[in-house]
Amino acid sequence: MRDAVFFRRWMTAAGVLVEREADRLTELDSAIGDADHGSNLLRGFSAVREALAADPATTPGAVLLLAGRTLISTVGGASGPLYGTLLRRTGKGLGEAAGVSDDELRKALYAGVGAVAQLGGAAPGDKTMLDALVPGVAALSTSYRAAADSAEKGARATVPMLARKGRASYLGERSIGHQDPGATSAALLLAALADVADTEDGR
Ligand code: ADP
Ligand code: MG
Repeated sequence: MRDAVFFRRWMTAAGVLVEREADRLTELDSAIGDADHGSNLLRGFSAVREALAADPATTPGAVLLLAGRTLISTVGGASGPLYGTLLRRTGKGLGEAAGVSDDELRKALYAGVGAVAQLGGAAPGDKTMLDALVPGVAALSTSYRAAADSAEKGARATVPMLARKGRASYLGERSIGHQDPGATSAALLLAALADVADTEDGR
């Protein structure tokens, strides 16, 4: 079972990876967007860290609901409401249990990704975060590491895609040839989850 501490560690690890990769995320966003994806997520995840430190949130669901709410209220860009919705919907799916199984988390994340697709109106192939999230969550039935690897592969596969949603879509054909920043950060989120699971499982 995964408890609130596991989910707090996941959010912390995601923040650390975002910090490490912020310049790269902004660079990717400068090619096909407005060069703020790294700073957006830096702001968001540092607010998440502060919110979690100040709040007792003792269940997995409560941790993700708080993190999601914080991302929505602190990130100005499109990615804030989208990641916020991912975490909020996932947290809602976990309910009020003190501990959740890996299978429960997989199902909740699957619903969370569905909520992102519904909010943003995007589908895989549109060159968005969904190109990492959808294959990533599908591979959760194998392992957390497989999910992280599939998300990373999905992010790389956005390079030749034509953007159909978000700011990058304004570029039309010129969006081709660049990796999507949101797909790249989505892979980081799943890498953080795999890292925290490896640590907890003694791998
Ligand atoms: P903004 O585009 O408002 O500047 P960010 O730069 O923080 O916001 O995030 C951009 C990322 O958000 C994109 O790379 C893409 O992955 C994701 N994104 C944008 N619009 C959508 C959408 N409709 N559905 C899913 N993801 C989206
Ligand atoms: Mg941007």
